[in-house]
Amino acid sequence: MQTQDFIELENRLGAHNYKPLDVVLTRGQGIWVWDVEDRRYMDCLSAYSAVNQGHCHPAIQKTLVEQATKLTLTSRAFRNDQLALFYQELCELTRSHKILPMNSGAEAVETVIKAVRKWGYQVKGVPQDCAEIIVCANNFHGRTITIVGFSTDSSSRQDFGPFTPGFKIIPFGDSEALEKAITPNTVGFMVEPIQGEAGVIIPPDGFLQRAKAICEKHNVVLILDEIQTGLGRTGKLLAEEHEGIEADLTLLGKALSGGFYPVSAVLSNKEVMDVLRPGEHGSTFGGNPLACAVSRTALRVLVEEGLIENAAVMGDYFLSELKKLKAPQVKEIRGRGLMIGIEFHPEAGGARAYCLKLMAAGLLCKETHDHIVRLAPPLVIRKEDIDWALERIAKVLKAD
Ligand SMILES: *Cc1c(COP(=O)(O)O)cnc(C)c1O
Repeated sequence: MQTQDFIELENRLGAHNYKPLDVVLTRGQGIWVWDVEDRRYMDCLSAYSAVNQGHCHPAIQKTLVEQATKLTLTSRAFRNDQLALFYQELCELTRSHKILPMNSGAEAVETVIKAVRKWGYQVKGVPQDCAEIIVCANNFHGRTITIVGFSTDSSSRQDFGPFTPGFKIIPFGDSEALEKAITPNTVGFMVEPIQGEAGVIIPPDGFLQRAKAICEKHNVVLILDEIQTGLGRTGKLLAEEHEGIEADLTLLGKALSGGFYPVSAVLSNKEVMDVLRPGEHGSTFGGNPLACAVSRTALRVLVEEGLIENAAVMGDYFLSELKKLKAPQVKEIRGRGLMIGIEFHPEAGGARAYCLKLMAAGLLCKETHDHIVRLAPPLVIRKEDIDWALERIAKVLKAD
C-alpha cells in the first residue's frame, strides 16, 4: 500500500475530527520520522511535545518491553511496586508532596477541577455548589465537555453544550483582571505558563509571580497546566521555574511517558489532594505498572541526558537564527526553549500553506490557528540538525 491508499482508507473509515498533513508515517528515531515511501522528515511537532525524549528512545523502549513481560495492569484495587517508585521519583524531581496519576491530559484537568472544588467546600468553606474556577481566554486544557465549556475557541465549543457551570474567563496575562474576578467563592485559578495551542503566547514578565501572590492573598489555589510546557520543553523542568514560583497544583502529561503510553499526573504541593477519599475518584488504567515503569525511565532520560539544558541552549540558538532570517512575511517570532512560534502576516496566505511547503522540504510542522506555525522538535536535537532545518526554512521563506 502507498501513501494515497492509506489516506483514502483513513478518510473513508475514520471520523474527520482532524485535518492531518498528507504524510503517512511508519517509523521514527530521535528527531526523525519516515513515511511509508521511506522519505525522511524532521519532526518539528513532537506529537504536541509528547515525544520530548525523541522517537522510540531506546531506554524507554527497553523498559516498556521488559515491564510488558512482567506485569501491565493491576487496577488500583491492589497495589503495585512501580506506582510507589513512580511517586517517589516524581515527587523528588518536582519537589511535590502528593501525586494523583491518570492517563490523558484532559483527565488530569478533570481531576484537578474535582479536587479544588472539594477543597473549596471542605477547607475554604465555600457554600455547596457555588465554587468558581478562573481560567484564561484562548486556553487549551483538553476536549471533555467540562473543559471545552470554558474554552473561548468557537470550534471547540460550538454545538457541544450544555456545559458545566462554575468557570470565569479573564484575559491571559492580566493579573489585575485576575484579582477583580476573584470572589469569596473562587477556589482556583488554572493557567498555562505559556499558551501552546493558542500559538505560543508568552505572558508579560512577572505575570505568574503576580498571579501566585494574588492567589495566596485570597486563598485561591494556583493550578499550572504544564502538560505542554513541562518536562523540559521551555528549557526548564517546569516552566514555572522561569519566574521562580511553585504552583499549588501542577498538571503533567504528554512527555511524562516519552510518547510511549498515555500517562498524566496531578502534582500537589498544598494539601488539596488530601480532600479526595477512597471511592471519590479513580481510573482503571491510572497508575498502572506499565505506565509507571515507562514514566520512570522517561523522567530519568530527561535528566540524565541533559535534555532540559539542551532545550535551553538549542532553543536560544534556533530562535535567534530564525529572527536573523528577517522574512517579510513574518509578523513575529517568539518562544522559550524549544517551544517556538512563527506568526505570519495575514496577507502571507495562511500558515497551512507554509506547513505544506516545509513538508515538501523535509520538515513536519503543524499550523496552530490560521497564521502561526509552531516549532517544537524533540529535545534531543543538536546544533547541526537546527542548521539543517534553518537552511530549509530559509529556502521556503525566500521562495515566496
Ligand atoms: C495537550 C494538552 C492538554 C490535553 O491533553 P490530552 O492528553 O490531549 O487530553 C491539556 N492541556 C494542555 C496545555 C495541553 O497542551
